[in-house]
Amino acid sequence: MAELKIFNSLTRQKEIFTPLTPGYIGMYVCGPTVYSDVHLGNCRTFISFDIIYRYLKYLGFKVRYVRNITDAGHLEGDRDEGDDKFSKKARLEQLEPMEIVQRYTLGFHKVMELFNNLPPTIEPTATGHISEQIEMIKHILSNGYAYIVDGTVYFDVEKYNKEKPYGILTNRKLEDLLEGTRELGGQDEKKGRLDFALWIKAKPEHLMQWPSPWGMGFPGWHIECSAMSGKYLGKEFDIHGGGMDLAATHHTNEIAQSQACFHVSPARYWIHTNMLTVNGARMSKSAGNGFLPGELFTGNHKLLEKAYSPMTVRFFMLQTHYRSTLDFSNEALQAAEKGLKRLWEAYEILDQIKLDTTEDNPNIIDPILDDKCKNLVAGFDEAMNDDFNTARVLANMFELVPIINSIKGGQIAPGSLRKDTLELMQKQLRIYLPGIFGLRDEKSNDSGILDGVIELLIQIRKDARNRKDFATSDKIRNELLIQGIALKDEKNGGTTWSLL
Ligand code: AMP
Ligand code: ZN
Repeated sequence: MAELKIFNSLTRQKEIFTPLTPGYIGMYVCGPTVYSDVHLGNCRTFISFDIIYRYLKYLGFKVRYVRNITDAGHLEGDRDEGDDKFSKKARLEQLEPMEIVQRYTLGFHKVMELFNNLPPTIEPTATGHISEQIEMIKHILSNGYAYIVDGTVYFDVEKYNKEKPYGILTNRKLEDLLEGTRELGGQDEKKGRLDFALWIKAKPEHLMQWPSPWGMGFPGWHIECSAMSGKYLGKEFDIHGGGMDLAATHHTNEIAQSQACFHVSPARYWIHTNMLTVNGARMSKSAGNGFLPGELFTGNHKLLEKAYSPMTVRFFMLQTHYRSTLDFSNEALQAAEKGLKRLWEAYEILDQIKLDTTEDNPNIIDPILDDKCKNLVAGFDEAMNDDFNTARVLANMFELVPIINSIKGGQIAPGSLRKDTLELMQKQLRIYLPGIFGLRDEKSNDSGILDGVIELLIQIRKDARNRKDFATSDKIRNELLIQGIALKDEKNGGTTWSLL
């Protein structure tokens, strides 16, 4: 088997991937914080890891893929201050925090399904692993890397750094990190500026709190991932992933916690996906520049010129390597929509090409073309083995498209290609497009009928609106929405539709 190379953020270089146990991979990816809807930036990270997961399985590995749900312990500030995001939302909406968690977990799953992401093999929650987190904190305390102040437990970064380099993941020295952090204030009870909370004392009115050896409280954000990855993948496992924004704090602290508890660095390979940006700025919940997937699928957003289907968005993301930033734009999405359509058309044409003869005819075979096609197809695995370069795979596919179209158009005789080359092309495109890239043909199956029926409903709705029968027109729109079909009234007076 060819070698898989992964860019390891820890060593800042591409390395040949060697699993700890032959044939088996443990992979942990930081999942969503479920106090609000996931935005498209979050989706980019989860789609990138879905492709990685699918590819590792394609290579024949048995993969245990753990992606957590953060449903407790996420404070507003990144310095252990401010309100708990779940409690705040619950109070605002007069709901139980677990109702917030349930709502956004279900919403997250729906979005993952729409994007055709495979579910992880384990999806543990922070609230389901409080005792594991407490155990780990107890160990860190007894190993001397943490201290208690009035019911809150802090990790002692400077003490830890005397033995292990705290900033190893981002290649930064403690002095530099300290310089970039503001001084402790008079109210601060921490010893060091970079110290972070493992366990936080809860005020009596705090909605989510648990008993612990240090009193009633709740876990800090970072400890949940250390406790859950340790539980399901072991103290040391193969791959840890997440967005690049997590490297400097969350993942840096995870490494420190695991070292302080188990004396090992948790993961061999750290994979960080780059950010989805809007006009160059990182898409984030707090910046308020987030697109919700539903806004894209319906086109209901001021920056959107039209609606885009889930597979268009997925394809748009695959066109850029996961370690490059990807800027959101209407033009790029429209190009992706066209590109994907061309690719599916070629895929269908290719699937239907059959060589009449069972034997290759050496008189017709075009060896140069045949070689070219073989190399382009072989390039799929080569590109993926080179740090999961989906963009290069797609570039190869687009070189195959005109060849396939010319076979259909008759400019190239099907017999120009060897039978096994043609079959290899058919097989690899099947493996890659719906398989590794997880692209669903949105217009397949009964879509012809569906198209007709929806067009008819759009027409009936239009007639209803013309006679001011808004009850009927709303009913059609709402019932279709329940069936997962969104209608959008365009500025030109027409109506378009998309699958949610
Ligand atoms: P959160 O729910 O904010 O904790 O984020 C869930 C995942 O999405 C994490 O792995 C983040 O690193 C990732 N993420 C957040 N914002 C972006 C973005 N703009 N682009 C790509 N990934 C992101
Ligand atoms: Zn995490």
